[in-house]
Amino acid sequence: MATTQSGREPRFAILGAGMSGILASVKLQEAGLGFTLFEKAEKVGGTWRENTYPGIACDVPSHVYSYSFELNPEWSYLCSPGAEIQAYFEGVAARHGIETSLRLGDAVVRCEWKGVDWEVETASGFSDRFDWVIAATGILHHPKYPEIEGLDSFEGANFHSARWDHDVPLDGRRIGIVGTGSSGIQITGELASRASKFSLFQRTAQWVVPVEQTAYTEEEREKFRTDADLLRNLHEELSQNFNDGFGTSVLDGNSEMVQGIQDTCTEHLDTVIEDPELRERLRPNYRAACKRLVVSHNFYEAIQHPNAELVTDDIVRIEPTGVRTADGRLHELDVLALATGFQVDRFMRPMTIRGRDGVLLDDVWKDRPSAYMAVGVPGFPNFFMLNGPNSPVGNFSLVQTAEMQFGYVMDLVEKVRTGELGYAMPTAEAAHRFEEERVEAAKKTVWATGCRSWYLDDRGIPFAWPFPFSRFRKEMAAPVLADFEAA
Ligand code: NAP
Repeated sequence: MATTQSGREPRFAILGAGMSGILASVKLQEAGLGFTLFEKAEKVGGTWRENTYPGIACDVPSHVYSYSFELNPEWSYLCSPGAEIQAYFEGVAARHGIETSLRLGDAVVRCEWKGVDWEVETASGFSDRFDWVIAATGILHHPKYPEIEGLDSFEGANFHSARWDHDVPLDGRRIGIVGTGSSGIQITGELASRASKFSLFQRTAQWVVPVEQTAYTEEEREKFRTDADLLRNLHEELSQNFNDGFGTSVLDGNSEMVQGIQDTCTEHLDTVIEDPELRERLRPNYRAACKRLVVSHNFYEAIQHPNAELVTDDIVRIEPTGVRTADGRLHELDVLALATGFQVDRFMRPMTIRGRDGVLLDDVWKDRPSAYMAVGVPGFPNFFMLNGPNSPVGNFSLVQTAEMQFGYVMDLVEKVRTGELGYAMPTAEAAHRFEEERVEAAKKTVWATGCRSWYLDDRGIPFAWPFPFSRFRKEMAAPVLADFEAA
């Protein structure tokens, strides 16, 4: 590899050892390029390391949620449990020997462009220089705690779903869960029958897509082990259905497929929930897929368990012994878990990221985060993000998205290597043009059809990639050099 502006072989800093960071490391390792993978926690795995709540699984089929270069014949279920997914990522990292370049337990606090390269500094005071920074810190990363009066006064066990305290006993206890997103629904599926009393505090009803919890048989796994084409075809077929099918349907709030999903969810609700009053309280009043769809094989059964109660009266405050709702009731609890989601506009912050001319990413993103083609930011040379702002989230496979984004970054590395670019940084004009077009397309998606969700930015505009998968594939296949600064 030729030298860079800084006069040495390019070196990469990868921020975050979750799915995207492990991917980038494996690929750089294969390419024989030097990198350091920075991880603030004590082990790799990202969201699957941090989310260990009871019932956790990935509701995307496991054969989609796998690297294309590390297909896994051993998945136990169509949608496998979280611990198995964590083990998969740890296994990939170990098999590819990336631990020699892994710096665990030391958070990056500052990345600063020094004119020719980046200085990266960690909390322990370690610092080093890199030609490229790849931020792979995830979206659903910083827990969001609800602003509910008296939360700190609760005398029982209280934690966020992404910070589950496994020392707290659950069986036979009075458990409350705030929130009915994918996390709250999965927790309910697991805990409703184990609690002596289970209270699910629902602010907004969810559309629930039914999926069978299909286990792969040993015979099927043996076929996957011995027939690589079978495994590859399954991965490709499932990914294509997801990316082109679901990924296209959400771009139009009135699409037939969205209507079909809504019909399926409605039938599920109408057939499984027996009590008409409960059924109506569980019936959403907005379009299916406006919020991130919830997928479940057991939620409706769980919420009908004799010990379970769906609470739809507003929470007024938390008291030492439980949750007080607007009807005046006190729901007494031993354990209160907050499945209240994540601060999705943080990305790699609170790190200080200082680009060219001393510009701070925090200032550039003071209104809201955005990125050219969902990967780069004007003013920040050789700085790219995987699954960063404006990335497809929920519409395409996150793993495939990261793989394609990484391929795009490697194309830019090559352009710098060959001298076609001095460094890789989108122009302000290109970023502005992309964002204007993106916002117009985003307004037509199902996410903008009138619901409250984490897909919306502070203006109420969906922040994700609002174009078809074909466009994403085309854009990621070849950077448009005219959109990058020539210097
Ligand atoms: P979420 O979807 O953001 O849901 C948060 C829930 O908390 C919502 O029901 C929200 O109500 C409720 N809430 C927030 N503040 C509240 C308050 N002050 N009072 C009452 N209720 C409040 O969070 P999540 O369930 O953790 O899921 C986040 C994302 O993680 C998912 O959308 C998905 O992308 C991902 N995830 C994926 C899987 C998987 O299997 N692949 C599993 C879990 C999570 P409103 O609806 O009224 O706002």
